[in-house]
Amino acid sequence: MYNFASLINLIPPVRVKVRDLEVGIETISYDTRKLTAPLNSLFFALKNVRDGHEFIAEAYAKGVRNFVVSKLDLDTTNLAEANIIWVADVLQALQTLAKANRSSFQNTLIGITGSNGKTVVKEWLTQLLKVDNKVYRSPKSFNSQLGVALSLWSLNDTYDYALIEAGISLPGEMELLEDMIKPTIGIFTNIGLAHAEGFASKEEKIREKMKLFKNATHLIYPSKYGLKEYLPEGVQGFSFGEEEADDLRVMGMATAEESSYLELQYRGQLERFDVSHMDRASIENTLTCVATLLFLGVDFAKAIARSIKVQPLAMRLELKTGKNNCSIIDDSYSNDIASLEIALDFLNQQRQHDKKTLILSDMEGLDDKMRAKLLKLLTAQKLHRILLVGSGLHYLQDKLSLPTSFFDSTKELIAQSPELAFEDESILIKGSRAFQLEDLSALLVAKSHETVLEINLDAVQHNLQEFRSLLPSGVKTMAMVKAFSYGSGSFEIANLLQFNKVDYLTVAFADEGAELRANGISLPIMVLSPDEQAFDSILKNKLEAEIYSARILHAFIDYVEHSHLGKAPMQVPIHIKVDTGMHRLGFLPEDMPKVLERLAKTDALRVVSVLTHLVASGDTSHDDFTRQQIASFNRAADVLEEGLGYSVMRHVANTSAIVHWPEAHMDMVRLGVGLYGIDMGNSGLKLEVVSRLVTTITQIKELKAGETVGYDRKGLLTRDSRIATVKIGYADGYDRRFGNGVGEMMVNGQLVKTVGNICMDMCMLDVTDVLVREESEVLVFPDVMKAAEAIGTIPYELLVSISSRVKRVYFYS
Ligand SMILES: *Cc1c(COP(=O)(O)O)cnc(C)c1O
Repeated sequence: MYNFASLINLIPPVRVKVRDLEVGIETISYDTRKLTAPLNSLFFALKNVRDGHEFIAEAYAKGVRNFVVSKLDLDTTNLAEANIIWVADVLQALQTLAKANRSSFQNTLIGITGSNGKTVVKEWLTQLLKVDNKVYRSPKSFNSQLGVALSLWSLNDTYDYALIEAGISLPGEMELLEDMIKPTIGIFTNIGLAHAEGFASKEEKIREKMKLFKNATHLIYPSKYGLKEYLPEGVQGFSFGEEEADDLRVMGMATAEESSYLELQYRGQLERFDVSHMDRASIENTLTCVATLLFLGVDFAKAIARSIKVQPLAMRLELKTGKNNCSIIDDSYSNDIASLEIALDFLNQQRQHDKKTLILSDMEGLDDKMRAKLLKLLTAQKLHRILLVGSGLHYLQDKLSLPTSFFDSTKELIAQSPELAFEDESILIKGSRAFQLEDLSALLVAKSHETVLEINLDAVQHNLQEFRSLLPSGVKTMAMVKAFSYGSGSFEIANLLQFNKVDYLTVAFADEGAELRANGISLPIMVLSPDEQAFDSILKNKLEAEIYSARILHAFIDYVEHSHLGKAPMQVPIHIKVDTGMHRLGFLPEDMPKVLERLAKTDALRVVSVLTHLVASGDTSHDDFTRQQIASFNRAADVLEEGLGYSVMRHVANTSAIVHWPEAHMDMVRLGVGLYGIDMGNSGLKLEVVSRLVTTITQIKELKAGETVGYDRKGLLTRDSRIATVKIGYADGYDRRFGNGVGEMMVNGQLVKTVGNICMDMCMLDVTDVLVREESEVLVFPDVMKAAEAIGTIPYELLVSISSRVKRVYFYS
């Protein structure tokens, strides 16, 4: 592979500091929380959310000795043992390296782009091609300027195929990606709405994406989007669709009992393809896979037979609640070293249990080099124990210092599970399909009501970054995790926020804060409006009280002084809430002298911040009032600071003020609903949906016109109808006002309305016009904003009303 000397040749440096030219470089790192084998890692000081240069000292302390940096005046006094390459642009240097590594790969590289389905197509094709080839693929959805560079770095000549995904959101980006990827063959999955991706028109978007293929020999694409006329010169097309000229032709739909088929034609031969279980997107993705296999020379019948078996993969790491107070990370559908690394990362981010267990199956196609790599990876883990399944992993015997057990099969492991006593631990289950570790997962996961709230932790992270991008550097972020994180769960979200280095968390009650502490959250936590019963918990759990009235201030001082009788002054942190117009809780601005007077008589407390809450920061018709609130707050804060004789943090801005009121950013902002993906109106940010409430169809009935559905005969059918019963009712938080057609859910990509009154645990939907079956998945709020409007409330209320009996499932997309 590479050593430091060869890297200097590949990356033209501005300057270098050399300590050891011969040191081997095996991995690339850019995040100090994710360092494996630091001695042989090259650390890129990238400017992401934070500036990577700030983390160099930490990386060095953790053993990293090779750096790529751009800061010319970097202080190297404490980096004596380090090799350092200075470059003009760190990301560009990484891309140059990726490009060099790519050019040493001589086999077929398939580049994939399109508006949707890139990752799914990549994953499916990997499964399909793996049957007779060695396949490399970019991990997860690594398709950005950084993701692609990282993906190409690990590519080497032992693979027959490489599948690399490219995604862009702005004009100009694809050229850079093409320069690195240089696909031999291309796949264009599809094209969506122009505005959804920041392009002026569909044409512009197609032209930009096509740039990925300008040096390819062939492009595989669906004909229905009119892509043909945009094919770059010299590139041959291989199309599929309903047009006569298509290489792979869809001849039409056939229906047999209970199922429907697509009829496909290739080179005069006809084959049928069962699509009864697929939604439209899956059909399109499967066709893309079949076309690619055909293009690569796989026999038609075989290509179809294989593609049918590729199940829609659960493409993500799910965190589930297990029995005996365990947390289960279930990744039992695929297994290779790259995805194992990602899953171990996820396991290590879990703070709710001290004990961590890895259950790992054998992997397909492990060669000696990969065996060594796996050993190294496992050796670096700090786990409670490792349980290995499959004889192919026996080579690890006696090589790991952690407690390790071996099982020949999943059956054997399941048989011994009582003795293994899974309890109060985080368990990562990672296995390839052949080992059927899902049986073990089913055994360990706690069963519950079948309506679940799926929470996409990647989306929370993304939304956090979107809001941070609006803040000048130095402004701190306080994240609101009150009310069960707006319904999304508490410590899982808090854990993620802590990992992403927010500065403060805020809860409504001390109990919520105590629970976060019990689960290992160490960030400062502010408690909104505590009462006297909460003081004990606040001190015990090192929470920070928001003080909003003279009564509470006096009571808290008394409490702190008594609990600390005779001991040294303790300077308990508090936050002073000023009421500048909300007229809910808080001192009036003119109360500041009284607050100061009381504080002067004690040294039990230290004021860390002063805050107020804006009443209508998102409503321009009240801009004058907002301006007054900010001014009156600043005056009160000035008085407070002057009287205290030290400076305190000021914070005012909630989600919409972060967007609309830069002068309210001050020292810290309080990010709430936006974090959970709700855009309260023209923020201009690209927020991602965080939670999906999904339920299932329990029963379907054919009913005649004139019959009625549900209590009090409110659901009168005006035509012959198919009615589906789903497992969600008002006890789950599905408001009764959604009854009788007011509520809309989504099945199979189509909207359906409620019929009749909502019951306590169930309700009924009119599915006459859509193709569904019992046990189909139903999305309860396809559009949370619209749903809230339909019953005259706001999204906040819908989110926090989702009852705690609805199981929360967390995943990284
Ligand atoms: C809930 C809350 C916020 C966050 O408001 P969003 O509109 O959800 O961003 C900020 N400050 C206080 C005092 C709050 O109670």
